[in-house]
Amino acid sequence: MDVLVSLCKRRGFIFQSSEIYGGTGAAWDYGPLGVELKNNIKRAWWRDNIHLRPDMVGLDASILMHPQVWKASGHLDHFTDPMVDCKACQHRFRADKVEEQSWIHYCPATKGNKFEVPAGEPCKHCNVRRSLCPDCGKGELTTPRQFNLMFKTFMGPVEEDAAVTYLRPETAQGIFVNFDNVLQSMRLKLPFGIAQIGKAFRNEITPGNFIFRTREFEQMEIEFFVNPLETIDGRPADEVWHERWIESRFAWYQRYGMRRENLRIREHEKDELAHYAKRTVDIEYQFPIGWSELEGVANRTDFDLKQHAQFSGKSLTYFDEDRKQHVVPYVIEPSAGADRSLLAFLADAYREEEVRGDRRVVLRFHPDLAPVKIAVLPLLKKRPEIVTTAHDLRATLARRWVTVYDDTAAIGRLYRRQDEVGTPYCVTVDVQTVGDSAKGEPGDRCVTIRERDSMEQIRVPIAELQGIFERLLGDGAWADVARSYPPARG
Ligand code: ATP
Repeated sequence: MDVLVSLCKRRGFIFQSSEIYGGTGAAWDYGPLGVELKNNIKRAWWRDNIHLRPDMVGLDASILMHPQVWKASGHLDHFTDPMVDCKACQHRFRADKVEEQSWIHYCPATKGNKFEVPAGEPCKHCNVRRSLCPDCGKGELTTPRQFNLMFKTFMGPVEEDAAVTYLRPETAQGIFVNFDNVLQSMRLKLPFGIAQIGKAFRNEITPGNFIFRTREFEQMEIEFFVNPLETIDGRPADEVWHERWIESRFAWYQRYGMRRENLRIREHEKDELAHYAKRTVDIEYQFPIGWSELEGVANRTDFDLKQHAQFSGKSLTYFDEDRKQHVVPYVIEPSAGADRSLLAFLADAYREEEVRGDRRVVLRFHPDLAPVKIAVLPLLKKRPEIVTTAHDLRATLARRWVTVYDDTAAIGRLYRRQDEVGTPYCVTVDVQTVGDSAKGEPGDRCVTIRERDSMEQIRVPIAELQGIFERLLGDGAWADVARSYPPARG
């Protein structure tokens, strides 16, 4: 994880929030490359789950909602985590996560020497397991108390109880309260889904592990409404749709290059299920901190719509024309984190390779996710024709793809820098491209394209560049495109 954190800072992906004041550890800022990467993830999710599906629509609900929403949804009463305090150092921990961190131990078998013991393991000298505070190793922990994770705030200028509301801890409720608006305005038929991407806030007891757990984060959520009276192949439709969504979401991460062996499905045990859920699975990723939730896919039944109908006094039903009756739809909720997805894509793309005795760091991002698609590099920055041609090329390509120009180092170094931020293609303009006007030598108007993963290079006419990138950054494979052009010298 430290390697990723340092790369992210050095190369402008992610910075600590308010770093000049010491940072907060609970929030992070996305730098120039980070914002591109995150936008690309969100765009891919939106395109695949909304634009490409006939049964999905989008929504962008407000963060501040009527306070009754949180009463109806159960968040005011139930959105809590068990918290314990150290009686000596006063540090706070999530009771159910204490065993997931390494712990400080003053070992009696070694005259009280201080050790840091790995998470969940006993001390290898005295075989004792952790019972005290994992941070200071001295204080006892209190018995767990429930701590509500919602951020409280005030609407309007009067700070009194009547004006209290909360920053939304999930985007889902904005969808439920708009169920009827969307249903009526878009004339939808079940089954259909509403999706939204937006910020959510949770006052996590122990934020950490970089952007894995923060107090402000972004969710990409789908609420897919299903008629509970319907069956598919003799099985309840909600159960079948739940399985379809698990499959679809599991495949989605792999479509953008995440390795299958780093993904797994974890079924929630009965005693772990949220009070509203009939069945929940987590899609887990093998993060640098171990297997952890990347996305939850829950069958929330008709709980939310019924609750909001009861608390608002408004009917939130669907009229089943065939059966001539009103039904409260069941809902399947695939709920992903944009930041956690970014961390998983980043961790998965990161490679250290040996190239001709040199170490190269490369982010093997899927081209759709890569923050920069093309880098245009001049081989010699002292030759004005080369520089001008490179600038012109950048300007032309930038109309269609995120393209940068860089001349701040020698070409080998420039390639490595682009590898390190995951740029799939570099275009190099050299002496041969522009020729030598003093000697009356015309250029060949060709440039070199270098592919990030294979580091292969081909020589292509400038006139064909646009068409080539349409293929390469569309569905075309490098090998197919490269076959049509001569290799360039490395
Ligand atoms: P956890 O068990 O890790 O606290 P959760 O089960 O509470 O997560 P959900 O309520 O299912 O999480 O939220 C859906 C998704 O939102 C998660 O899978 C995760 O990707 C993202 N998410 C939730 N909490 C955070 C957070 N504090 N920081 C970053 N992402 C988060």
